[in-house]
Amino acid sequence: MAAEILDGKAIANQIRTELTEEVAEFIENNAVVPCLAAVLVGDDPASEVYVRNKQKACERVGIEGQLHRLPADATDDDLLQIVARLNQDSAVHGILVQLPLPSQLSETRILDAIHPLKDVDAFHPENVGLLSQGRPRYLPCTPHGVMQLLHRSGIEAAGKHAVIVGRSDIVGKPMAMLLAARNSSCGPQAANATVTLCHSRSQDMGTLTKQADILVAAVGIANFIRADMVKPGAAVVDVGINRTDDGLVGDVAFDEVSAVAGHITPVPGGVGPLTVTMLLHNTLTAAGLQLHSA
Ligand code: NDP
Repeated sequence: MAAEILDGKAIANQIRTELTEEVAEFIENNAVVPCLAAVLVGDDPASEVYVRNKQKACERVGIEGQLHRLPADATDDDLLQIVARLNQDSAVHGILVQLPLPSQLSETRILDAIHPLKDVDAFHPENVGLLSQGRPRYLPCTPHGVMQLLHRSGIEAAGKHAVIVGRSDIVGKPMAMLLAARNSSCGPQAANATVTLCHSRSQDMGTLTKQADILVAAVGIANFIRADMVKPGAAVVDVGINRTDDGLVGDVAFDEVSAVAGHITPVPGGVGPLTVTMLLHNTLTAAGLQLHSA
């Protein structure tokens, strides 16, 4: 039997409808419009699309979106100046520096300069530290989106074996933390998994992935997860977005894995829409936190 599709687009729309109401209520109660400032360096076409989508998504839920552009040859100092200005601007609640940055720029230096209360991507060491201690301020957008997707699709993680392929700071590592945590924004049933975190040095990958009740692929290699690596009935979440001659392709070989898995996310229309949605969620949270810290 073919796997049930985990419809990320529909769940993202559901959360955005909730957010639209919450944003309207926030504006009415506080006379403050939550605002996300995006910073885009250079003219990478994929980054342009991502930033544009984020701006549009902001507008649709009632959040103000700003875009600050710098040329591709910008220096660290140019970017740090913009970040410092946005840090100071009380009308801006969230700052997002679109990655990847051109190679002459120091990603770590720039991201560390964002005020932790405005760090809606949750990349700042202070926010990563809070997350790792089980008292998160902001949840990183993609892993949080995956948690929402699983929970709202009725797939509980507690007591299950979750295997994550990929250990990046943005996806794999925080995904492992959220799934292994004692609690989550969706309640304890959505967390408390037993977690295995795989990477390029893991041996016998198929044996590891085949143990997964929940398998999250965040590798960045098209069709990396094949049917013989998946346990029958598993929930398979494909974070990967790979540009190929056949268009956008995930890290999971969708057609063959669908025949084995119990649930599966499509690419596109799976995790992607949730990532943007959780960024909006963090911007609203940031506006609230800055209201009380002012
Ligand atoms: P990174 O390149 O930062 O990390 C990839 C991870 O995969 C690394 O940990 C790497 O291991 C591991 N890996 C690479 N090759 C293998 C292999 N042969 N076997 C096992 N593990 C391997 O990528 P990201 O985490 O940033 O992104 C992953 C994918 O998700 C990309 O396709 C990206 O475009 C997509 N993405 C999608 C988002 C969305 O909203 N849907 C958001 C963010 C990313 P090692 O650490 O050992 O090098």
